[in-house]
Amino acid sequence: MTTPAPLLLTSIHDVSPRFEGEIDALLDRLVPVTSIQNLAMLVVPNFWDAAPLHKSPAFCRKLRDWSARGAEIFLHGWHHRAEHLPQSRFDRFRAKHLTAGEGEFLAIGQESAVRKMRDGRKLIEDIIGNPVSGFIAPAWLYGTGAQEALAEAGFTLAEDHMHVWNPVSGATLATGPVVTWASRSTLRTASSLAFARVAPAILSRYPVARIAVHPGDVSKPSILSSIDHCMSRLLRQGRVPGRYSELVADSQGLAA
Ligand SMILES: [Zn+2]
Repeated sequence: MTTPAPLLLTSIHDVSPRFEGEIDALLDRLVPVTSIQNLAMLVVPNFWDAAPLHKSPAFCRKLRDWSARGAEIFLHGWHHRAEHLPQSRFDRFRAKHLTAGEGEFLAIGQESAVRKMRDGRKLIEDIIGNPVSGFIAPAWLYGTGAQEALAEAGFTLAEDHMHVWNPVSGATLATGPVVTWASRSTLRTASSLAFARVAPAILSRYPVARIAVHPGDVSKPSILSSIDHCMSRLLRQGRVPGRYSELVADSQGLAA
């Protein structure tokens, strides 16, 4: 039996009409490296309540086209903004330090999480004419209600900073830190650039490496060149660009 080649999974976060130009720029950069079939696109139905998909038919046509060309489409929250303050001190710490108020699924109750997940999936599937591949919470933050809602809503793929898992079966599909960049402040940018420099070495012992880019990344040339550099180092390690759905298929194959 041969060992499968280590994978590189690449995702574009915050796919929304609000960032149409930035998403196009990221696609221009990434598609030649990975191909569109190996890109995950994380769609926000109504970013900050200011960019509803249903009011952007031209963007919906693009979304349908990306899906038809093979991109994996994920639901990424509903409006990407937290409505409630988390109850626990640990979650309040996570909300404050890991996001700019964007932990939409951190303090949410299970019932409203399920409703948003189902409504968001239906909205996107009606647009693209294909099933969505999974759900990834804004800022990768899930409270208990959101964790339970994932299985109830039937998603077979989710991820956070350190894991990819199948919420229905409970199986962990991949581990290891996601490499991502922060454009919000000079300090955060500097620390994300520093991590990206060491990440390929750290990830060399993991079968799956994950790269996640955001619309704001295109505003900083230092981030763009770090993304290019990090991806080419990961590919030189012998990784092949792949799809999140391969992880589910592999785990089901192993279980069979
Ligand atoms: Zn996001």
